[in-house]
Amino acid sequence: MIRLREWLSLRRGFDDLSREGNVFGFVLRLMFLSISLSLLFQFVAIPLCRFFGLLTASFADSLKVGVAMSWLVSSFVATVTGLPIGLELRRLARAKAKYQYLSRVDELSGLLNRRAFTEVLEETSAEASLVIIDLDRFKLINDNHGHCAGDFVIRAVSDVLAETTAAGDVCARLGGEEFGLILRGKSRGERLALVETARLRVAALPLQFDGQWIDLTISAGVAEITPERRKEAIYAAADRALYRAKAEGRNRVIHEDDAEEAVIAVQAAS
Ligand code: GH3
Ligand code: MG
Ligand code: MG
Repeated sequence: MIRLREWLSLRRGFDDLSREGNVFGFVLRLMFLSISLSLLFQFVAIPLCRFFGLLTASFADSLKVGVAMSWLVSSFVATVTGLPIGLELRRLARAKAKYQYLSRVDELSGLLNRRAFTEVLEETSAEASLVIIDLDRFKLINDNHGHCAGDFVIRAVSDVLAETTAAGDVCARLGGEEFGLILRGKSRGERLALVETARLRVAALPLQFDGQWIDLTISAGVAEITPERRKEAIYAAADRALYRAKAEGRNRVIHEDDAEEAVIAVQAAS
């Protein structure tokens, strides 16, 4: 009974009306409901008409015509009204899915954007590392090679970050030349090593734009996500670590727990 009610619900499949089958399912259910309601109406109206002496034909004939008309009229009306409505709903569902995607993805890099990153960060309570990465002296690249070269560099770094992180990790462009990672699973040391790998890979990128070579490095600040820590505090700690990475000469990864004076970051090979 519950299954039948679920099947009959016109809202069923609404969440994914972008699928063709769900639109036809919607029309079919609309048709079934219209015919059922119309039949019900006939079975109430015809005996009432008979009771008040309003039937011009015999009771049996009136019922036959009533049933036949219910089928014909209801299925016709349900199809001509339900199909355009279903198709329009499908168009809206597809547009909604597209805008939901665009509202979460950064157009230039193809990575998640800041909004999506913040959402995931808020939902992350298990042990993980928050990494904030900033390209070093990026303004110089724009100034020396042009804005298109800058965009090319942003895409190249995005590819490295996406390739270096694992499937369960989160990789986002937070804006401008700043990126965010949420590294999950693994040990804390392994997560830190992963950021270091990303740094080395970026430094080793053979970046050539318009026949000119571009040198590029990144700096990163790392903080630990734990269930009891507030997200703002974690973000601020990663940001402070990044600031120190810049202050200490760039092209390095600094963990929030690294003592201010100690040179914990792995120095650039060059
Ligand atoms: P630092 O090492 O201290 O981070 O120096 P920086 O030059 O990287 O930092 P700064 O904040 O001075 O410069 C960032 C530049 O990034 C300035 C801005 O024009 C550029 N930028 C921001 N968004 C984009 C973008 O989408 N494309 C390009 N090509 N450039 C961008
Ligand atoms: Mg920068
Ligand atoms: Mg920056």
